[in-house]
Amino acid sequence: MTTADVVIVGGGIVGASIAYQLTKAGCRNVLILEREAHQGKGSTGKSMGGVRAQFSTDVSIQMSLYSIPFFRDFEDALGHPSGYCAQGYLFVAASSTHLNYLRANHARQAAMGLTTARLLDPEDVTRMVPQLRSDDIVGGSFCSTDGFVDPYSIMTGFTLRAIDQGARLERDVTVTGIQKDVRGITAVETSQGGPVATRIVVNAAGAWASQIAGMAGLDLPVEPLRRMLVPTEPFDKIAHSAPMIIDMSTGFHFRPESLGLLLAWNDPEETPGFKTNFDRAFVEKILTHAVSRVPVLEEVEVNPSRAWAGLYEMTPDHHPILGEAPGIAGFYCANGFSGHGVMHSPATGKILADLILKGSTELIDARLLNYSRFAEGRLIEETAVL
Ligand SMILES: Cc1cc2nc3c(=O)[nH]c(=O)nc-3n(C[C@H](O)[C@H](O)[C@H](O)COP(=O)(O)OP(=O)(O)OC[C@H]3O[C@@H](n4cnc5c(N)ncnc54)[C@H](O)[C@@H]3O)c2cc1C
Repeated sequence: MTTADVVIVGGGIVGASIAYQLTKAGCRNVLILEREAHQGKGSTGKSMGGVRAQFSTDVSIQMSLYSIPFFRDFEDALGHPSGYCAQGYLFVAASSTHLNYLRANHARQAAMGLTTARLLDPEDVTRMVPQLRSDDIVGGSFCSTDGFVDPYSIMTGFTLRAIDQGARLERDVTVTGIQKDVRGITAVETSQGGPVATRIVVNAAGAWASQIAGMAGLDLPVEPLRRMLVPTEPFDKIAHSAPMIIDMSTGFHFRPESLGLLLAWNDPEETPGFKTNFDRAFVEKILTHAVSRVPVLEEVEVNPSRAWAGLYEMTPDHHPILGEAPGIAGFYCANGFSGHGVMHSPATGKILADLILKGSTELIDARLLNYSRFAEGRLIEETAVL
């Protein structure tokens, strides 16, 4: 029977980061099982690649404060590009409620040690992006170390280094069951050959995480939620050096991508489910919001066949669920990133490796994100979700 010290279910950016950190710390017999023929076919390959520290809770900010410098230094450390572009995130407020929210978040971010975020008055905002309709803008916030990365390249870099350090990646292998005894996990069943004996399983199955948890007897509150992105044709009326720009009045946000822009908007009418088809009616909805804040976008051209949809993995409080499941020794969760799984993948890898190998981590207070918070009523709502 094949054996592994740790089996990671899912070879997306989160599974790859955990494999990298485990093997870097000396745990070499790590096996990643990925059901697809290629990595990145889950949410990682669908992501917008945004990375930011402008969050509303201490623990989200802490995870970004670890992860963003990690992306900056990624190529030096792992020998593979991360594509990190520090073009910033600009939140644009058009109501006093939103401005007060940004002020409160900024105070929290500063208290956590973020030095690159600042509040803006309306003139700063329009100076930064003159194309914005400004009649109702009351201010904003900008963080210069926020920006974008290449999720596929990061996933590949983590995987290649993990393999250099002793990990194995098996593709085209679906995890179909998990075996336990009184001491906890004993093996993982797969679509290929016999079971893999192991005492530690990490659930890194993205939007499919609750299926894997169910195999171990755990009811995991992670729901798939469709998100759609619309790339534009080449467009030069917004600077290619522009930040990610978020219109807080509608949630519409966009950033430069290649020679054009990448447009995003989270439709409040979307319902949970494994829907990965792109709905062409979305183009008209998103362009309405786009033009209302950025009138020059009336001239932008969109080819709907280049647009795509993917799945967020949502939890009830929009924070991930990290760590060992109560009552199932050896079953670890790295799930429910609620739209932040790319940007928090470096921190997640480090936290999971620490928890598995040492039983504790100094990166965050891991109790805040454990599974038991739901039963114990300790939810900590992250409201800065795009
Ligand atoms: C449109 C969109 C935009 C986004 N934008 C951002 C953004 O700007 N910034 C950001 O940080 N995040 C963003 N996200 C979220 C981010 O992409 C995810 O949180 C992240 O990719 C999750 O990584 P993962 O490795 O956990 O999951 P995935 O990449 O989904 O990987 C999970 C893997 O598990 C495999 N798997 C599932 N079941 C099994 C099984 N039974 N056996 C074996 N393998 C299995 C799947 O095939 C998959 O490859 C976005 C997501 C979407 C959809």
